[in-house]
Amino acid sequence: MKNNEALRCLLCKKPRCSISGCPVHTPVPECMALYREDRIEEAAEILFRNNPLSAITSRVCDWKKFCLGNCVLNVKKIPVRWYEIEQEISEAYLRTVTLPERASNGKSVAIVGAGPAGIAAAIWLHGRGFEVSVFDSNEEIGGVLRYGIPPFRLDRSLVSEYKRIFDSAGIVFKGGIKVGKGLTLKSLSQSFTYVFIATGAEKPLSLGIPGEESPKVIDALKYLKDPGSFELGKKVIVIGGGNVAMDSCRTAARSGVDTWVYYRKTFENMPANPFEIEEAQRDGVHFELFKAPVEVREDGVVFRDCENVTDPETGKISTRIIDGTDSLVPCDTLIPAISERPDLSVFGDMMPQTNRWGYPEASSTGMVIFPDGTSNVFAAGDLLLGPRTVVEAVASARKAIESIL
Ligand SMILES: Cc1cc2nc3c(=O)[nH]c(=O)nc-3n(C[C@H](O)[C@H](O)[C@H](O)COP(=O)(O)OP(=O)(O)OC[C@H]3O[C@@H](n4cnc5c(N)ncnc54)[C@H](O)[C@@H]3O)c2cc1C
Repeated sequence: MKNNEALRCLLCKKPRCSISGCPVHTPVPECMALYREDRIEEAAEILFRNNPLSAITSRVCDWKKFCLGNCVLNVKKIPVRWYEIEQEISEAYLRTVTLPERASNGKSVAIVGAGPAGIAAAIWLHGRGFEVSVFDSNEEIGGVLRYGIPPFRLDRSLVSEYKRIFDSAGIVFKGGIKVGKGLTLKSLSQSFTYVFIATGAEKPLSLGIPGEESPKVIDALKYLKDPGSFELGKKVIVIGGGNVAMDSCRTAARSGVDTWVYYRKTFENMPANPFEIEEAQRDGVHFELFKAPVEVREDGVVFRDCENVTDPETGKISTRIIDGTDSLVPCDTLIPAISERPDLSVFGDMMPQTNRWGYPEASSTGMVIFPDGTSNVFAAGDLLLGPRTVVEAVASARKAIESIL
């Protein structure tokens, strides 16, 4: 045992860190006990079986929201840092693990999207005897793990391990194929026993303000995919307060550009992991709060002040834009990172029913609902949930594959 933090764990009988704190219910006390006894390999196997992305989630999860924040020792403000131990166990295991031999069940599955949901589904379904083929529009495996989260936060070589695992297990990976164009969902649903769609949420939400089509405006996800290909100029403004905004501003600041984040509410309202906000400040990013963009101009962006207003009846706090407070802030580049939506083009001419937010309708088990009654197409991850987290994408994949089995 390298990390004495493990000795502080109370090995709770009803562990809140796992039951209510973790979307994939990581069996923390069981693995902690094995770790204390130096039975690391056994702990690693349990973690990988439960969540094949354990080595990743233990790095990128917002621990305060999940395991750390739910530790019973939080009452004394000394929660156990389980994620450190999980990183140690799972990372070493991921570097060498291969999937065990299994008998084929004679069924096949096409997985569309090789992000966290697609990777987890591929590994689990392979283990249950399916012949698995994974298609992705990107050349390489990983989804947001490779093309969104910057390498200074997540080591790309960890993500590449999944390609090694796929290759050694005979899971077919076909990169550079955008399903919906040429290869259609309909043809996949006819050639495979099941189709599992995990195409994420990659369509940026627009600001809806004049001037947004200006060449100085860059889509955050495109920027993060290949930051070196963009000329940002001397000053960049990022709009938003989530993970995408933090990764964009940190990447820009680390490239030496004067970087500012403008946000319409408070730091506490920002959906990003608070740790990332602190890191952004350490990287030299400046923050301006209570500012909403109202127009993009050739020389900069016009912002209007905002304020929080409390509803006297419900106590609910909303943010109000204050008229007559416009000011022009000069900048060379604007990166809006306010949210994303799923791109439904993957469905081609086989459109599912959609809900009022434009997301595909699915049963509680992730079976996509089509007007013609097609019942062999499942979905998971951000495509169904909207932009969320890696661990939630894995949890939703588990729900869907349990109904396929
Ligand atoms: C910049 C950024 C930073 C983030 N930081 C964190 C973090 O720190 N912690 C955290 O927990 N979560 C974070 N998230 C959220 C997390 O990454 C996502 O919730 C998670 O990746 C969703 O997984 P997914 O498998 O549903 O989709 P994705 O990871 O988006 O993968 C979808 C895959 O589908 C492919 N695809 C799309 N359309 C098609 C098509 N038509 N045909 C074939 N392939 C297609 C895409 O190329 C992609 O590879 C972040 C997200 C972003 C964008």
